[in-house]
Amino acid sequence: MKRLLTLLFSVAAIILFAQPNPQSRKVTEKFFPDFDIYMPTPAFSAVNRQNDFRAFTDHEAMMEYITRKHAEHPEFLSYTYIGESQKGKSVPMLTLTNKAVRSDKIRVWMQGGLHGDEPASTECLLYLIHMLLETDSLRPLLDHVELRMVPMANVDGCDRLHRHAANGLDLNRDQTKLDAPESVFLKWAFTEFNAEVALDFHEFRSYRRHFAKLSDWGVTTKYDVMFLYSGNLNVDAGLRQLTKSHFVEPAKSALDTYELRHSDYFTSREVHGEIQFNRGATNPRSSATSYALTNCVSSLIEVRGVALGRTSYKRRVFTGYAIAMSYLRSAVENVDAVRAAIVEADQNTAPPVVKATRTLVGEEVPFIDLARNEYVSLPSVVRDAWLSKPLLVRDEPEAYLILPGHDKAVANLRVLGLEVEVLAAEAEVSVESYKVTRYRRSPFKYEGVHLQTVETDTEEMLRRFPPGTSRVRVNQKYGNMLAELLEPEAGSSFVFFEVIKTRLGAELPVFREVKSKNP
Ligand SMILES: [Zn+2]
Repeated sequence: MKRLLTLLFSVAAIILFAQPNPQSRKVTEKFFPDFDIYMPTPAFSAVNRQNDFRAFTDHEAMMEYITRKHAEHPEFLSYTYIGESQKGKSVPMLTLTNKAVRSDKIRVWMQGGLHGDEPASTECLLYLIHMLLETDSLRPLLDHVELRMVPMANVDGCDRLHRHAANGLDLNRDQTKLDAPESVFLKWAFTEFNAEVALDFHEFRSYRRHFAKLSDWGVTTKYDVMFLYSGNLNVDAGLRQLTKSHFVEPAKSALDTYELRHSDYFTSREVHGEIQFNRGATNPRSSATSYALTNCVSSLIEVRGVALGRTSYKRRVFTGYAIAMSYLRSAVENVDAVRAAIVEADQNTAPPVVKATRTLVGEEVPFIDLARNEYVSLPSVVRDAWLSKPLLVRDEPEAYLILPGHDKAVANLRVLGLEVEVLAAEAEVSVESYKVTRYRRSPFKYEGVHLQTVETDTEEMLRRFPPGTSRVRVNQKYGNMLAELLEPEAGSSFVFFEVIKTRLGAELPVFREVKSKNP
């Protein structure tokens, strides 16, 4: 009997997990009814196999749409190609603005499709293009905004509805090591644009392995969308606050008017058998923090959608669109406040935080209980990135020096927008060196590399540097990023990602140039 039950269970599990869409009709009908609105974007047009589960916009359909919109509105829409995907497809970047109005417009960056299995992230931007160009009441926004848009950042992934780039890398874990060609040309384009506001659209998975353990039949996320905005302490505090008060909060109010449910971003993890939640983010390997460290208003938008096929698809696309539109309005309305905050952030010389820790908060986290098809609140531990506290702080150096022979590290710095000078002659410099006192190299590869976790002791010394040594000043536009890239203990640093290899007891090829102590 017991064996029969096990067998039945296994068969049930196979049927359950083999289904392409994990969401039952009753959850959809009660909590996520689709929107009945006109959307003339490729995924909803008749030629694109409407209502086919797999019918999402591919590169070809997107290009047809973009070239048509450009032909109809050349004075508002132009596009160029920023690079080629690994499979040789050209990646378009669009500019939407009223070219007849020559003023200092606020620069807003939007991207979608960085993960190829999150189709609403591309479609919401294509819908935004349609609305901005075809709606008389919205088009005047383009008098005040220069909107730069990469709707399909990971073309190869999007074409086969696959999260990763063609070489298997996750492009939203690759923003400091820059191992995928797509990461490099996307960063170049972003750096060159010098965005004041940046949005990266994604979709999240609403049925997670951990969620099956919460309540009898498990739970699913109740939110249509979650906001991820950086809690990284090297991002200027004023800019972090402005992002929340002037962009996230108004966007949440806009969602309320459509009865779309929202939250700050959280994800689950298991700690000694207990399910806990991580809220927010601090890590510059991902876009929200990577962009925020360039001193701009940055948010990553996660719409509920991964693995849901075409379920509630217009609702998902509209959710992304509504947020994009709200951020555009906020950018225009708050242009002076945004620029003042950026100037302040550029001048900020707070000492770099090398390591930080999240604050643990006890909280009721709401879900949809699948057995009862009702909301349920679960008492939980939330590790909140927004409430991060510094663990390891070092004095701000004048500059970092990198010995010759570390070309990839120097190339990455340049792609990330940092000015690097190269010593033409030998120089004697007062520096702090790093000696590796603890070292662990992960036996397994993560995103193509063996992670190196280190601790170091610093030692002050006068040292001779050969010609060819790279020197990167801290006091420059993207200088905030340096602590995250070059301090070896930082969680996305070049040492962590093996861009710079080391071992126990070694002196690192990176040095901190000591600030001259003027009386
Ligand atoms: Zn994603």
